[in-house]
Amino acid sequence: MTDDQRSELPAQADIPTRYGALRLHVVTDAQGKEHVAAVAGDVAGQRRVLCRIHSECLTSEIMGSLRCDCREQLEAALTRIGQEGGVVIYLRQEGRGIGLANKIRAYALQNEGVDTVDANRLLGLPDDLRSYEIAGEILRELGVESVNMMTNNPLKIEGLSGSGVPVEGHEPLLCDVHGLAHGYLEVKRDRMGHLIPGAWKPPKTA
Ligand SMILES: [Zn+2]
Repeated sequence: MTDDQRSELPAQADIPTRYGALRLHVVTDAQGKEHVAAVAGDVAGQRRVLCRIHSECLTSEIMGSLRCDCREQLEAALTRIGQEGGVVIYLRQEGRGIGLANKIRAYALQNEGVDTVDANRLLGLPDDLRSYEIAGEILRELGVESVNMMTNNPLKIEGLSGSGVPVEGHEPLLCDVHGLAHGYLEVKRDRMGHLIPGAWKPPKTA
């Protein structure tokens, strides 16, 4: 087999994980970024497949940052699909698409008291540059007929519907987060329209 033939092979393998057996598929987009779909159980030809579309957050997922709840959301989503079957798509679009360096610049501004939305604006960056087109392509490739999305973000529901995958249901993904992310969650709810229930208030910081 030549190298060319090898690169034509689908990049997928069954991996034992702490969440159960997952089949990991890697899809490379036109910009050369590698995205991952973690699949539990049989999803081809299925409707209302439990689905989370998650964007990379190196600071919390790898470095343990307490600025946001991304790590908790990712773990909660993987735990759910490990138990019930479904798909978690992990998109390599750090910092809502602005990249890691800009995200760190925005954090420096937030350390001076600016919130996440205004920090991006001060840097001349959009609030949210993420695209869900590739997620739609991945789900179609997996043969998923429609999804039940785990998300608090209406833009994600719109984005995925726009990419041609019907969203037949959605449910919030609320994690019991550490105190430092509460301000961030309030901004997401009050300024970015996230579907964090109105009555739901982050628990008071201990
Ligand atoms: Zn994060």
